[in-house]
Amino acid sequence: MRATVAKIYTENLRHNIREIRKRVSPRTKLCVAVKADAYGHGAVKCAEIALEQGADFLAVAAVSEGAELRAAGIAAPVLLLSLCHPDEMDELVANDLTPLVGDADYAGAVARAVRRAGKTRYPVHLAVDTGMGRIGCYPREAAALAREIVATDALSLGGMCTHFAVSDSPAAADKSYTDVQFARFSQAVVSVRAEGIDPGICHCCNSAATLERPEFHGDMVRPGIIVYGYYPDGKPRSYYTGIGRDIDLRPVMALATSVVAVRPLEKGMSVSYGRTWTAERDTTLGVLPVGYADGLFRRFASVMRVGVNGASYPIRGRICMDQCMVDFGTDTVERWSEAVLFGPKESGAAQSAQELADATGTISYEITSAITKRVPRLYL
Ligand SMILES: *Cc1c(COP(=O)(O)O)cnc(C)c1O
Repeated sequence: MRATVAKIYTENLRHNIREIRKRVSPRTKLCVAVKADAYGHGAVKCAEIALEQGADFLAVAAVSEGAELRAAGIAAPVLLLSLCHPDEMDELVANDLTPLVGDADYAGAVARAVRRAGKTRYPVHLAVDTGMGRIGCYPREAAALAREIVATDALSLGGMCTHFAVSDSPAAADKSYTDVQFARFSQAVVSVRAEGIDPGICHCCNSAATLERPEFHGDMVRPGIIVYGYYPDGKPRSYYTGIGRDIDLRPVMALATSVVAVRPLEKGMSVSYGRTWTAERDTTLGVLPVGYADGLFRRFASVMRVGVNGASYPIRGRICMDQCMVDFGTDTVERWSEAVLFGPKESGAAQSAQELADATGTISYEITSAITKRVPRLYL
């Protein structure tokens, strides 16, 4: 296996899912988002672990992602959270993925694919746009769309859902925006019931709302980022303790490699492209076979400390496509030592993906899901 690996601490993944499951009523289903290859952690393995820990549903963003789960023998219901093209719908139906439907035209395209497959009463979830401005019908259109769905024997209404835009924000205005979104969703559900139509599984909570708004859990919650061990919006754990919703989340991924060369660097020598760093004194340079084509963004160079044997060292110069350099100063570091770029404490990392995200103005999601294909996932 390549020296550069994404280590997946499966015990932390199990722990996080158990922590989430404990905070959700037993009558509320758990849908674990495994889209984007489980936020970079490996969809099949994470899906298997999620199901073993009591998940009822899985969620993906692309038909191909759902097909990958089916090819691995996963039989649990799989929600397709994004819209797909009609050209993908035969594959959608062949793999029994459950699409979100927000308009009659799209519902019609799904229904045609269902008929082509010789299936009937294929479950879809009616998506309502209550203020995310992304997909779904407006609340006032929900009843009519539900009628169209149940009128065709190709489709059935398996559920209704919406998605919150600011549920991870503690600001009072954002809290009330989420309240309004939930109220609109509830009205849409009521309007469907008023037609004598069973709305099915009603769900709206992402990670943040799963943690903070138990009153919104409904029939199912759809957490993603907390499953992988990061607090929504990078809030500290103390925030959740403070609101009486303490939860212990443990980062699941570590990005690790090994020191492939240890070289004396003489005072006055510069390191890497652009010569942005020059040694002011003799030092020891380590070379790591990891770069931005692995998902180690160039902007990490100025903030990252690389963990080696319990100590941490700065990156020097620009991160290259496939390599980067680290400054060991006067320390003696053995060639082939493990070097950890980010991860949970127990990985030997000097920072987590969250701390790296905070320091570079992004979110943990972007960092773990950007780890590219050529980095093997190693399940511990
Ligand atoms: C990605 C996604 C989720 C999970 O979001 P997190 O913030 O990771 O919890 C839930 N619902 C929908 C519709 C999504 O697209």
